[in-house]
Amino acid sequence: MKKVGIVGWRGMVGSVLLERMHAEKDFAHFDAVYFSTSQAGEKGPDGKPLKNAQNVKDLTDMDIILTCQGGDWTKEMHPQVRAAGWKGHWIDAASALRMDKSAVIILDPVNQAVIDRARNDGLNDWIGGNCTVSLMLLGVGALFKQGWVEWASSHTYQAASGAGAKNMLELLKQMQFFGDRLRDGMNAGQSALEIEKQVGVLMKDAAFPREAFGHPLAANLLPWIDSALPSGQSREEWKAEAEANKILGNTRPIPIDGTCVRVGALRCHSQALTIKLNKDIPLAEIEAAIKADNAWVRLVENDKEKTLKGVTPAAVSGSLDIAVGRLRKMSLGPTFVNAFTCGDQLLWGAAEPLRRMLRQVV
Ligand code: NAP
Repeated sequence: MKKVGIVGWRGMVGSVLLERMHAEKDFAHFDAVYFSTSQAGEKGPDGKPLKNAQNVKDLTDMDIILTCQGGDWTKEMHPQVRAAGWKGHWIDAASALRMDKSAVIILDPVNQAVIDRARNDGLNDWIGGNCTVSLMLLGVGALFKQGWVEWASSHTYQAASGAGAKNMLELLKQMQFFGDRLRDGMNAGQSALEIEKQVGVLMKDAAFPREAFGHPLAANLLPWIDSALPSGQSREEWKAEAEANKILGNTRPIPIDGTCVRVGALRCHSQALTIKLNKDIPLAEIEAAIKADNAWVRLVENDKEKTLKGVTPAAVSGSLDIAVGRLRKMSLGPTFVNAFTCGDQLLWGAAEPLRRMLRQVV
């Protein structure tokens, strides 16, 4: 059986990945070997000592490396194992290698043909896409595949867990900080405005937990994700056009841009989409194309109750559903379509494409 080295298994993406691999009985198809950057020698999830994720020899003993460790580790270790002549499959959640010529961004329900071509060409670096990009393409990729899209604008509402385990815990600690300090006043019947003023003061308190995000996220939002680029975009915003076109294998890139925002949801990324069509396509045709595109997309009628019940992080968390709602022609004109999508960024946005790619190469 093939040996698969698993790195980053105890992080946010890695934990969800292991859950899914157990649920799908993937472990029956290969021998898993667990690595860590910080706990080598300690007991891994299979009860055996963890291997050191910085040891090139141990890594190159593997047939396949599956990593959700993060970009810094990928940048450090990928060049070393390739320089050592290792020709195995490298499957990675981090963005570090995504735009490399020799790497393929994997999202098989959308780009199996691109993956097949790359396998025929002997490529072996398989990289999961940015979470919001993958979720957008699973939701409304049909419109791109039909050649109907002139440009698209995506404004995101991204959950705390998108930044990792520490960040999600920090959001909860921030909520707890408010709860602990506001409880007495709330129980004594303080007014909403009095409580709101205290929240503002507590956000500036030296003891307020802000190590991971650097800012309050609870009772707030953060309209910047990832580093700044000379274009004025954040790197997260830049990824939409760059990665979506690479995933789709487009030779003529379709412009995609918008603002990426971190919100106080724990899990699931949502996005509001404005899609400019290159001709007036009837809404019924658009709906039919979206519904028929893949097995996970769940189109929700543009109805208030159905939307509030079905197109939210609370409705979608922990499931492979890609909810698409608020689908309507906009008052801007008949070629402008509005949509809102919500998907679990830890599942289809990260773990699931990696798991499915692993099964393909195994
Ligand atoms: P993460 O939760 O921060 O975990 C990454 C690693 O951090 C772990 O494997 C672990 O490695 C170490 N770690 C340190 N403290 C930890 C703690 N308290 N709990 C768990 N692990 C801890 O990162 P992630 O969100 O899974 O992201 C991994 C990669 O996937 C990144 O490149 C990210 O950009 C990408 N990605 C993430 C998401 C998402 O929604 N989170 C979506 C798409 C892609 P050791 O065992 O070696 O110490």
